[in-house]
Amino acid sequence: MDELPLSLPALLPGHVWLVGAGPGDPGLLSLLALHALRQADIIVYDALVDPRILDLANPAAEREFAGKRGGKPSAKQPDISKRLIELARAGRKVARLKGGDPFVFGRGAEEALALVEAAIPFRVVPGITAGVGGLAYAGIPCTTRETNSAVVFVTGQDASGAIPETIEWDALARAVPVLVFYMALTKIERIAATLMAAGRAADEPAAVISRASTPAQQVVVSTLAGIAEAAGSARCEPPALLVIGPVVGLRDRLDWLTSQT
Ligand code: SAH
Repeated sequence: MDELPLSLPALLPGHVWLVGAGPGDPGLLSLLALHALRQADIIVYDALVDPRILDLANPAAEREFAGKRGGKPSAKQPDISKRLIELARAGRKVARLKGGDPFVFGRGAEEALALVEAAIPFRVVPGITAGVGGLAYAGIPCTTRETNSAVVFVTGQDASGAIPETIEWDALARAVPVLVFYMALTKIERIAATLMAAGRAADEPAAVISRASTPAQQVVVSTLAGIAEAAGSARCEPPALLVIGPVVGLRDRLDWLTSQT
């Protein structure tokens, strides 16, 4: 970092940086994210952060787990925000490290709003969201001129863990050729059935991308009608994305990762 002809801002005592760690591969960190890891004296990280990324932190920095994962005991969101405020008020240099991008289904906005409320200075360091980086590592482009002029990121679960009721399935199915679902591994069957009921073709290509950009990356390709069963028999593990649409078909030719390993 030091030899780069760049002047990056300093993480000052009493400040919090909300840092996106990307989907897993440490090479996908931004320079600012790495800079935050080198400067922070405490790193508050969540469950999705790849251990190889924590290894890049200043060895003297304290690491504090604040993860939330379905089913496992975890810190509650207001507690995490409170903790960030407490650390900043104690004059610590705080990096709050989150998987992917902090503002994409990552509750980064809630934490940022709590910091604003408490008048704590903060910065947001965007990360590569799984819906972009994970697809790229699976050889699936988000868009091509031939296939789709729109793509949508959808969450498969709301705060209670259920499929969000606010989703307008008919509109989604009709208007958006490429759908990328986060947090949907246990709901693939219902999502596929709902989309087919709304008019999507049963034989449209679909994929599940599990643990994208990590050494355990696994990609299962099928049709909309077959993807739930295919992902089940392949025992896909979280975190995983569900991708539906014609771009999935390009993986046959664009799977650069498997052809290199
Ligand atoms: N802020 C994160 C998303 C957090 S929600 C981001 O921008 O990527 C958690 C969901 O993200 C998971 O359920 C999964 O759908 C997706 N996800 C995160 N990392 C992933 C990875 N390495 N591979 C596949 N999906 C991932």
